[in-house]
Amino acid sequence: MTTIDNQTLVKWRREFHRYPETGWGEFVTTAKLIETLEAMGHRVLTGTQVINPGFVRGRNPGVVEKARLAAKAQGVSDALLARIGEYTGCAVVFDTGRPGPTVALRFDIDCVSVQETALAEHVPNQQGFGSTNPGYMHACGHDGHAAIGLGVARWLMENQDPPLRGIVKLIFQPAEEGVRGARPIAESGILDDVDYFACGHLGCDIPSGVVVAAPERYLSTLKMDLRFKGKAAHAGMEPHAGKNALLAACNATVQIMSLPTHGEGMTRVNVGVLKAGEGRNVIPSFAEMQIEVRGENEKINNYMTEEALRRAHGVAQSFDVELETEVMGEAVDFVPDEEMTAYVTEVARALPAVKEVRRTMNFNGSDDATLLIKRVQAHGGKAAYFVIGSDIKAGHHQAEFDIDESQLFTGFAIFTGLLKRLSA
Ligand SMILES: [Zn+2]
Ligand SMILES: [Zn+2]
Repeated sequence: MTTIDNQTLVKWRREFHRYPETGWGEFVTTAKLIETLEAMGHRVLTGTQVINPGFVRGRNPGVVEKARLAAKAQGVSDALLARIGEYTGCAVVFDTGRPGPTVALRFDIDCVSVQETALAEHVPNQQGFGSTNPGYMHACGHDGHAAIGLGVARWLMENQDPPLRGIVKLIFQPAEEGVRGARPIAESGILDDVDYFACGHLGCDIPSGVVVAAPERYLSTLKMDLRFKGKAAHAGMEPHAGKNALLAACNATVQIMSLPTHGEGMTRVNVGVLKAGEGRNVIPSFAEMQIEVRGENEKINNYMTEEALRRAHGVAQSFDVELETEVMGEAVDFVPDEEMTAYVTEVARALPAVKEVRRTMNFNGSDDATLLIKRVQAHGGKAAYFVIGSDIKAGHHQAEFDIDESQLFTGFAIFTGLLKRLSA
């Protein structure tokens, strides 16, 4: 028996929805997770127990500091903030005490930088759980993912019949948006003994009552910041003494945007931001670019990355300026394991709320869970990424986005069903 019902999941989801936090700033969210999980009796790992700081991507210290202060104002205790430390997110390691497989489930917890709609008929406004954190909104359903994770955690603590074997790890991942949080979790080694890994996403343009067992065509992607450093000089008296970072960055932009495509699959490239220079009469000494490349698979993405960097470095050399590059986010593609796809299909088919189980769909986006999956697969484990259909009011990342809360229990039932299948 379990005490988890859809109402419990809805209550948690609404609490997360009310206070959304952006990647690496999820202090209130993480504190709530720790408190709730420990109240259930779980041992919770935090900070560098889950995150390898050497691989943290796209973490803006200013944003983090603001979020930490806001969390304090929200009533998060100093003790909890100290436990979280520099890195949000947490994990549960549940040891059944009986020999068996190690299964890891991943739930992402961050929000999107979108202002939630003020429309009165938007359900979160109607029911009084709209975002109270201006400029931020759970517009991707991760509030639902975190709630489902809590549901699974409580289910683990309730009497299992038959009892589970082995170890269950629940990963509450920060900073999925911008594909930043998974790599440092993978590099912490927490997944290296995992035999089975599963995660899911609500929505994704799949209607309520439908589950997709093994989506395909995840795009590999790399997000980078490029910083050109030159030398300022008087533009009238001694332009020859300057080194023009703006000109270098402009040339690099043109060259990167005109990269040839790859014959074996899709490619994408974008220079999304370019900022440079200090004044009208000064040779510009700095330029900053935010770029991203994508590829249908890792090989094509690596090709795009290498070519983009080659051109940037070549341009930097020809303008005699320095170039600093920083990886801000990354995700890869992966091939789902047949065995896990079969389990997801079997478990989902058995649920009365699921009307249809589809084998696959084109994901056509990126999720850095793929990095966790690759890590598990590299150590011989098997992995699944499934989609929990949910009627949505507007597309992901839009101000009117809202999930169908009745599908939270479907997600919970698939994860716990998988655990029963893999570990009982
Ligand atoms: Zn998203
Ligand atoms: Zn998402």
